[in-house]
Amino acid sequence: MKIALLGTGLMGQALVTHLLSEKQQITVFNRSPEKVNVLADLGAKVAQTAQAALEASDFCILMLSDADAIDQVIDSIATETFKNKTIIQMGTIAPEDSRQLAQQITHSGGQYLECPVLGSLPEARTGTLILMAAGDKDTYQVALPLLNLIGKEPQYIGDTGQGATVKLAMNQLIAGLTSSFALSLALIEKEGIESEQFMKIVRDSALYAPTFDKKLDRMLTRDFANPNFPTKHLAKDTRLFLSVAKQLDIETCALKGIDKLLDKTLEQGLANTDYSALFSGVTKGK
Ligand code: NAP
Repeated sequence: MKIALLGTGLMGQALVTHLLSEKQQITVFNRSPEKVNVLADLGAKVAQTAQAALEASDFCILMLSDADAIDQVIDSIATETFKNKTIIQMGTIAPEDSRQLAQQITHSGGQYLECPVLGSLPEARTGTLILMAAGDKDTYQVALPLLNLIGKEPQYIGDTGQGATVKLAMNQLIAGLTSSFALSLALIEKEGIESEQFMKIVRDSALYAPTFDKKLDRMLTRDFANPNFPTKHLAKDTRLFLSVAKQLDIETCALKGIDKLLDKTLEQGLANTDYSALFSGVTKGK
């Protein structure tokens, strides 16, 4: 397989590292060139432009921040370059943005597969991401050998946009569970109750979610550095959910509160920290 990946941020770096360990040949492009150095040392080929990366590939993975980033990168590539290339979009974007991208790619003679991912750096580094693919079924089948290297048991959801929809539904759970846990933990801490005793009760109850233990130490020690998933991207995904839910006439007043909490957390300068920084939002930075 000739693979390219555009966007070697946190997830792109982790994914390329894994694909190289699987003995795949991969060409990478990133807007900020310094981020590809470590991947070049591991054996990735480095392209100076997105166009050159696409030219060198049959499958091209997009692992970019958002729809604007995707637009900028796609618009930098000559239309005819997409002919017979399979573009696999793995970032978290709105279903409608994905549908428009699908149209743009297929009009240019390429194939498009939407495939957002759940899981973070540890899962990307070990090929255990949860994949929510959607779009043309034949394109999915062609991409399946590559998807099987990236995730265990890739899921085919349905039409383009439906994978993006499932991803937003999952990330709404991240925002809800994390902010809810942060709020309860803040109350326990303020009242001087032992957090371990509280956790034992939570763990023994039906209310427990494994993510609580994953984020507990970071919250108690206020150590939000070295993120797997930055707060700014959770804020982006929450806004995407709110906008899609509005179009579908779903009541979102609860999520709007969490959106405000995310804004308060970002105002504390925590955009690029781990999203467990929601705890800092709740405790007002104390
Ligand atoms: P990240 O570390 O912020 O990386 C973002 C990437 O997008 C970088 O390569 C960045 O290039 C590039 N980019 C941003 N704006 C650009 C522009 N205008 N033009 C060209 N390139 C641009 O983000 P990430 O954590 O890897 O996440 C990538 C996507 O996957 C996001 O949609 C995120 O929501 C989703 N996701 C993340 C996780 C996670 O745990 N981190 C998990 C699942 C899904 P520069 O290096 O030049 O800034």
